Amino acid sequence: MLRARRLCYDAGTMNALLDKPSLVGLGRGELAQVFARLDVPEKARAMRVAQLWNWLYARGATAFDQMTVLSKDLRAQLGEHYCLARPDIVSEQVSADGTRKWLLRLAPAAPGAGGPEVETVYIPEETRGTLCISSQVGCTLNCSFCHTGTQPLVRNLTPGEIVGQIMVARDRIGDWPGAEADDPRGLPESERKITNIVLMGMGEPLYNFEHVRDAMGIASASDGLAFSKRRITLSTSGVVPEIPRWGAEANTMLAISLHGVRDELRNELVPINRKWPIAELLEACRQYPSLSNAKRITFEYVMLKGVNDSIAEAKDLVRLLKGIPAKINLIPFNPWPGAPYECSDWEQIETFAEVVNRAGYASPVRSPRGRDIMAACGQLKSASLKQRARVAATAK
Ligand code: SAH
Ligand code: SF4
Repeated sequence: MLRARRLCYDAGTMNALLDKPSLVGLGRGELAQVFARLDVPEKARAMRVAQLWNWLYARGATAFDQMTVLSKDLRAQLGEHYCLARPDIVSEQVSADGTRKWLLRLAPAAPGAGGPEVETVYIPEETRGTLCISSQVGCTLNCSFCHTGTQPLVRNLTPGEIVGQIMVARDRIGDWPGAEADDPRGLPESERKITNIVLMGMGEPLYNFEHVRDAMGIASASDGLAFSKRRITLSTSGVVPEIPRWGAEANTMLAISLHGVRDELRNELVPINRKWPIAELLEACRQYPSLSNAKRITFEYVMLKGVNDSIAEAKDLVRLLKGIPAKINLIPFNPWPGAPYECSDWEQIETFAEVVNRAGYASPVRSPRGRDIMAACGQLKSASLKQRARVAATAK
């Protein structure tokens, strides 16, 4: 069965043109089935899959005609039944600091219905470029400081929609090998703009386990999108039973949304803590495969004024993480309308960071990027919708 069924759009008009499934997001086994359906003889399929895979994921082909290694006839057959569509771009915004944000429309539940939307953000820095991708539309969890948490889960993203976010970003920032390049291996890591993938957009990735796993399998295949697993980070609010499974089946880098050092407070901030409290979460972290100083778990800690930002809590945080190869990422709270919190004062964040630094942790304070295009964590999509509503209101 093909999972990634998506309408092909004319990018300019966004009119659905053809109801053909997209090959984006399919694994090798599924691509072999595509060739079986096209009556390609079994002994030729493995080679065809390798060729298609290369054009799809290493070179970023957007049309079958580019795949000159396949016969004209086979290209025509592929084009008759399939497409290479990525999620549709509804809007693209570029911040003054270079951060880019795409609002993407996914396939609707039924033809003619409006498709749900998610956001993808690209954050360029001096030494790396990070792409923040979404795994669900909405979220089933209700973290009290997160805007996504106020939105019900609409649905899980398919592997094609997850991989498609990476491919859209590569299309838009020119991160595929040039058309003239004859090298089938894609851009070498040193020349790429997107160097890191973080699953920190909308949704809880471990509640869409199989699709996220399959998508990251494609993202990390060395003959495809070719992101090293060391450069892919999955962030979870703490779905404890899925952590060892993720370690066994995907084993990317891991980030934990900790945000509180006492169960009583974390129950309130990250309610999944009632099911799997801090001690169980940290035990799962300790067991995560192949941890070392070079492969550390990132603990995310959102700075909420007067809630979790005391010096005593900074000291407890350090005590709690003792023995786990860890990085601590302090995130200034990104406020949203109606949010019951404020961001900690800057001096408080610095004092908190000092305690953490003195204990030997590099604790970069994640500087807010792309504020002018509302690209901040926990604000994705909802804020853009509000902005569009405002623009529409003022245009009336
Ligand atoms: N669901 C996953 C991944 C998505 S959220 C998780 O919770 O880890 C990515 C990160 O942004 C998490 O650490 C989350 O706690 C944080 N976040 C959410 N809303 C935020 C806000 N308003 N300000 C700052 N960080 C926020
Ligand atoms: Fe969901 Fe993560 Fe937001 Fe919590 S912080 S509501 S898990 S997206």
